[in-house]
Amino acid sequence: MIEHDGGLRVQGMALWLDATRSRDRCFVSHAHSDHAIRHRRIIASPQTARLYEHRLGRTLAETHAFHAPFEVDGARCWLLPAGHILGSSQILIEHKGRRIVYTGDCRMREGLTAEPITVEPCDILVMECTFGRPHYVFPEPAEVARRLCRFIEGTWNEGLTPVLLAYALGKGQEAMKLLGDRGYSCAVAEPVFRIARIYEEYGVRFGRYELLDPTLGAEGVRGQVVILPPHLRRSQILEDIGPCRTAMLTGWAMDRNCRFRYRVDEAIPLSDHADFQELLALVRQAAPKKVYTVHGFTEFAKHLRLLGYDADHLGP
Ligand SMILES: [Zn+2]
Repeated sequence: MIEHDGGLRVQGMALWLDATRSRDRCFVSHAHSDHAIRHRRIIASPQTARLYEHRLGRTLAETHAFHAPFEVDGARCWLLPAGHILGSSQILIEHKGRRIVYTGDCRMREGLTAEPITVEPCDILVMECTFGRPHYVFPEPAEVARRLCRFIEGTWNEGLTPVLLAYALGKGQEAMKLLGDRGYSCAVAEPVFRIARIYEEYGVRFGRYELLDPTLGAEGVRGQVVILPPHLRRSQILEDIGPCRTAMLTGWAMDRNCRFRYRVDEAIPLSDHADFQELLALVRQAAPKKVYTVHGFTEFAKHLRLLGYDADHLGP
């Protein structure tokens, strides 16, 4: 029913879903680099197409608003919000009398900068399971925010600069919004800044923030929270801004060794993915006859089988 070879495909349809090899026509669920590579033509939400083109350049993009039906290879399709990052979508395909949903990356908790998820009942659910192990249960959003604020205040009390490491697309903007809404001012690295400008085009409103200018040294970031994409952690920037403490924002913070793995002072479980309980809730609400899991732990499918679902892991 579902092919999995360099991407996903419903058998009998030409359309690929989040293909990892370049294709003639591909649905792109969202603009993270592990889901978005260059294709000849893409199908995506307008927000995803905008972010995709920001990363990869002009593309032949067929965009569809959420919940608006369209036709592909004789099948009726809809894009539905996935709750992961701005524009992230699931695709619902009605094919030969069956309703098939592919979730892409998703989150059930409501984020601050992503459209809230819609869960549709379906016959076949193809879902991500990045955090598909029982110990990945994230604290309540209010508790995560408290931890983040505690880290920032504690760092300032020691006379140091708080530096948050967050992916340039999605997590960076989520942190900016969370902090801006609480009156903090952020100095953000250029990749985060440029994507925040795109979020603003789609109506996301941030509090005070500016482009980080590391040449101004510690004085230039006094009283501000610095946000950097993780890959810039080892750049000159950290040396330029002087003594600081670093916190990685990631769901992997639930792992005890996370701080050491990322070589940071603190790891805070701010995630744009569903945790284990949310993944189970998604399956319950979609009530599918068949589940295929992708992007995560193979044993999540096993958990689902124990709960009585017909579930298989497709990989990778
Ligand atoms: Zn993603």
